[in-house]
Amino acid sequence: MVETRLIDGKAFAETMRARLKDDVAAFVAETGVTPGLAVVLVGEDPASAVYVRNKGKQTLEAGMASIEHKLPADTAQDDVLALVRALNADDAVHGILVQLPLPAHIDAQAVLATIDPAKDVDGFHVVNAGRLAVGLEALVPCTPLGCVMLLKDTLGSLAGLEAVVVGRSNIVGKPLAQLLLREDCTVTIAHSRTRDLPGVCRRADILIGAVGRPEMIRGDWIKPGATVIDVGINRVAGADGKGRLVGDVAFAEAKGIAGAITPVPGGVGPMTIACLLANTLTAARRQVG
Ligand code: NDP
Repeated sequence: MVETRLIDGKAFAETMRARLKDDVAAFVAETGVTPGLAVVLVGEDPASAVYVRNKGKQTLEAGMASIEHKLPADTAQDDVLALVRALNADDAVHGILVQLPLPAHIDAQAVLATIDPAKDVDGFHVVNAGRLAVGLEALVPCTPLGCVMLLKDTLGSLAGLEAVVVGRSNIVGKPLAQLLLREDCTVTIAHSRTRDLPGVCRRADILIGAVGRPEMIRGDWIKPGATVIDVGINRVAGADGKGRLVGDVAFAEAKGIAGAITPVPGGVGPMTIACLLANTLTAARRQVG
């Protein structure tokens, strides 16, 4: 039986945001410029509305300007593109985030491609994805960045470790694999067509669940002592009939096997907004020179 350490993403993110607040104050004092983050929300998806509210609140708490654009669900794609172009041209806006998912009639790739890569604080533009892939300075997607920060805080150097990332989305799995490669891990990306997924997972010193399937990764898929990062956020019915959040990893089974694990909630989730704020300051620094 391994003693499993909980990786407290909430506490880490709080410390990060406090440090960031000081860095923002120093930047404002030095340049006279307040970093601005513009968030575009199209439609009324309740989960997205909660994220956008939290982002706005934490942006202000960090001493940055928060600019919110809430558009009705039936907004034409051309109108969303026109708004993004206006934000690209606005000197008070240093970061632009278009909340996903977008309504079905809007081509998300077309919208992401319209964001100025220098203001692309989500790191989803192909220019930033490409720069990350070839090892150039880039704005890096926030959730993967948060995962790697937690891993380095837990393990120190990641060099030479076997990392298995389950999930290959452009938002989480692929950029996370790139970041782990940059840390000199030996990286495997698994997905829905992977053969013997439990066997592949058992090889991992670092096991990442980024799938979106409640508790799919079982305790006996985990190598004893491995570090487990659970990106999944899944709402399931609780015993009391109320909804509760679980990750992609069967947390109760993983305890006693994993060396360290992120809880859901309170693990990776809080890191995402903290990294978004950090990216906004980085983008502002580069734009102001
Ligand atoms: P996507 O749906 O875009 O991607 C899911 C990935 O999981 C795909 O690559 C898919 O494979 C793979 N997959 C699906 N089923 C299986 C299976 N049975 N076995 C192996 N692989 C499988 O999801 P996201 O990457 O956007 O998100 C993943 C999870 O992370 C979600 O729960 C989401 O809510 C959460 N999330 C959390 C964030 C945070 O802030 N903490 C931020 C972003 C996401 P294939 O490509 O073959 O279809």
